[in-house]
Amino acid sequence: MNRAHNFSAGPAVLPVPVLKETADAILNFNNSGMSIMEVSHRAKDFDNVMKEAQADCLKLMNLSPEEYYVMFLGGGASLQFLMIPYNFLHKKADYINTGVWSKKAIKEGKDMAKIFNAEINVAASSDDKNFNYIPTEFNFTPDADYVHITTNNTIYGTEWKDNIPDTKNVPLIADMSSDMFAMKRDFAKYSLIYAGAQKNIGPAGVTMVVIKKQWAEEQARKDVPTMLYYKTHYDSESMFNTPPCLPVFVVSRTFKWIMKQGGLEAIQENNEMKAKLLYDAIDAYPDFYKSAVANPRDRSLMNVTFNCVNPEFEPKFIAEAKEKYNMTNLKGHRSVGGIRASIYNSCPVDTIKALVKFIEEFYKANK
Ligand SMILES: *Cc1c(COP(=O)(O)O)cnc(C)c1O
Repeated sequence: MNRAHNFSAGPAVLPVPVLKETADAILNFNNSGMSIMEVSHRAKDFDNVMKEAQADCLKLMNLSPEEYYVMFLGGGASLQFLMIPYNFLHKKADYINTGVWSKKAIKEGKDMAKIFNAEINVAASSDDKNFNYIPTEFNFTPDADYVHITTNNTIYGTEWKDNIPDTKNVPLIADMSSDMFAMKRDFAKYSLIYAGAQKNIGPAGVTMVVIKKQWAEEQARKDVPTMLYYKTHYDSESMFNTPPCLPVFVVSRTFKWIMKQGGLEAIQENNEMKAKLLYDAIDAYPDFYKSAVANPRDRSLMNVTFNCVNPEFEPKFIAEAKEKYNMTNLKGHRSVGGIRASIYNSCPVDTIKALVKFIEEFYKANK
């Protein structure tokens, strides 16, 4: 198979073995003579896929199935921006604003706050420097209903590593869409974690939500419409309505793939190695390239954002990379420009090495 060097931010690269298993299941799922797309979501074979995906997810997170529940929902991560305040906003919630996705979550929070006569407090923001850093000072509300953070800022290329703030007794909620399972984290710190699958764990069409059940039971509002109520979904084992069966299958295979790589420790080590190759290449020619992130500590392992010191070279860089080496999707997000290489878990190291080589080659040809 002749694979492109795909640097797409999402939907993004998936592991080839997962693509192959999916291709097989699309034609003949478990030798049933039916496609995975043709079987009932209530069929035993599909139920096994769902149950295994949930169990593997908790295993990878080192969380117990007694405490946490995993749901696979539609509506994208964007629907979670609404579901979270709809279920958990009573009086006041804190949000940390680290980019476009945080801002969208804050907007939904504020819209719900108007309806519930509640308040949204932005406890920290890196808006003042166009989101090129992760804040270190917070103005938390001691009795907030929850704190919401975005662990990786896909557009700006910043990421929270082991510097997640201590929210004391206030429940922590995280949008991990673009760095889900990119590194080991203390997942037990969180009351709710969600991730649109299409960045790092699967295809578009499914969002994973991991929820602390007791907290949800005790804290959720009771006036939530059925489909937006988390309880509807965890009480019905994520099968209240037809789940996105095919995307759930791909996610389940991706979890197996992660385990086969050696779990999150191995994945993290590999991601750190890959990101370092790329950042080192950018840092090697400071007269020509510059990282878009102010402090190296905040550099994302997943989305490497950089600029040419002379921005006129950027379109040329992107076009030449595509033309000569079939490197796709290197253009930065339309709201910030520049160059962005998204290098998720399954982005092969050879793809990174090819880009490193091109960074050097382009520098030498144009300096
Ligand atoms: C892509 C992205 C989203 C939006 O996801 P959808 O599934 O398209 O709604 C939200 N948050 C982050 C961090 C993202 O990268």
